[in-house]
Amino acid sequence: MLLDGFGKGGHGCQPLAFVGLTIRCAAGSFCPMNDEWYSVRMRASRDGRHLSGAERIGQSPEVAGLVSLLTARAMAHAGGTPDDVRCTLEKLEVGAIASLSFPEVRTWQVEDWRCGRLLAVQLLIGAGLCAEVAGFCLQALANGPAPGGGPMRGAMIVDALSGERLDSDAARGVRVSHMDVSPEERTDVVAGLRQVGLSHYRVLEALILSGKVLQAPGLVAELCWSDDPDYLTGYVATPANGYQRISCLKERGSFCGGRVFLVDSRNWSRDAFVTFLEKTPVLLHGMPLVHPSEEWEP
Ligand code: AMP
Repeated sequence: MLLDGFGKGGHGCQPLAFVGLTIRCAAGSFCPMNDEWYSVRMRASRDGRHLSGAERIGQSPEVAGLVSLLTARAMAHAGGTPDDVRCTLEKLEVGAIASLSFPEVRTWQVEDWRCGRLLAVQLLIGAGLCAEVAGFCLQALANGPAPGGGPMRGAMIVDALSGERLDSDAARGVRVSHMDVSPEERTDVVAGLRQVGLSHYRVLEALILSGKVLQAPGLVAELCWSDDPDYLTGYVATPANGYQRISCLKERGSFCGGRVFLVDSRNWSRDAFVTFLEKTPVLLHGMPLVHPSEEWEP
């Protein structure tokens, strides 16, 4: 289900101001004016170990600037200086760029990570999972889902009904790629999120990623918390209830984290799911509808 942030300034919500101009083709794809579109992706590593990664989509005049921006980010990463930084530019077929809306955003303030995890289980059960499968997903992220523990490079895929793991590479998982906020709306989206206290760059990046994930065929829910030891906020996202941030899902100092994509595997194609997430270019349009944060107690 597509959520549309426009005109949804319901009681108590904070619809962000929108002043950008969006031009869309009849098919719903984003129309170029004259320029060509590129996906720009950066990956940085040290001693063969992944350090950081980021990506953007932009038109040809912006591409050099995006490469420089992403390279600067790789060089300034808190995890240390990389010894290998790769930027990939890939020209996109304009007609293939899908236009999506941001999910609605809710924030739950919880006392500590234990409460946060109880809430996450509850939200996953609300999405149709049984308690065992929900608990399995949380435990997998807490233990480090990669073989031998530690974070994976991408996300696990888990059958929402049986809890069976469906990704084919347990170290890599599936890596969502080729997504961004539409360039002419970025400034307003960033400003709007800042206005409601969501200025951390991770919020927008996770919203973009999750906005794409929620449209993947067969997706039931997404669970995420970061492997950054200082970033404790995580989320559960579902097509029906959008993106629900949970203020604390992990202990400070923990390097464990990850993502789980829960799917309804009946009539489901792993190829279609993975191809959509990894290859289909997506631009998110409009403004996310952000609800005021609420306290949650068990
Ligand atoms: P982050 O929120 O960037 O700290 O990422 C948290 C976890 O999500 C990482 O440990 C990865 O397992 C996973 N992850 C990061 N980026 C992606 C991606 N593009 N697609 C799928 N999973 C990702």
